[in-house]
Amino acid sequence: MTIFERYACTSCCFSVSEVVPIKALEEKILKEGKVLAGGVLKVGSFLNQQIDTAFLKEMGAEIARLYRDSGVNKILTIEASGIAIAVAAAYEMNVPVVFAKKNKSSNVSGDIYSSKVESFTHRTVNSIVVSKEFISKGDRILIVDDFLANGNALLGLSELITQAGATVVGAAIAIEKGFQKGGDELRAKGMRIESLAIVDCMTESGIEFRLQNN
Ligand code: 5GP
Repeated sequence: MTIFERYACTSCCFSVSEVVPIKALEEKILKEGKVLAGGVLKVGSFLNQQIDTAFLKEMGAEIARLYRDSGVNKILTIEASGIAIAVAAAYEMNVPVVFAKKNKSSNVSGDIYSSKVESFTHRTVNSIVVSKEFISKGDRILIVDDFLANGNALLGLSELITQAGATVVGAAIAIEKGFQKGGDELRAKGMRIESLAIVDCMTESGIEFRLQNN
């Protein structure tokens, strides 16, 4: 991905005096992201409502690069906002995407795997379901989502995979909010998580990213 100069956030976290490289996604978050109350980052201009398809393709290619040689044969995500980036990654990896639905509806019939996920943005607890026909024992599954905050979505999706006797290869996330502890806690438990950008702090006046070597 294209390299840009790092934005120095002086109003929060630690101060960064030197200029270090950041990735294109970080630059895009700085330009287009909006910091909302409650630790919510809005990226409706390129990922969550309007989708920048050329940029989405780049993110998909980056996820495919990170998980090449991992034997992934399927991607699992959760409706609705994980689907776009999951499809972009799956297209690059030449594997299918399955998305968990948030409520059992008439078009999810028959046997299902199910777990519960507390929504970060709505604070409600949803059942998430996937038809048993779409996840099988022996599948090696990559979980893909747009955001990682407290880790509830990743835990719920992992639970569906475990119920099927399949393997969680890891997770790929567009934007992790590192100041909410889901990512660090799941990594400490041994889960591989690759985030294209990690926001370590954000206020209305600045956003600070974690340096990563990937
Ligand atoms: P978690 O389950 O890790 O607490 O939250 C992840 C889920 O909540 C993602 O599927 C994402 O849709 C939503 N989410 C969490 N934080 C944000 C945020 O700051 N902005 C947006 N747009 N969605 C978020």
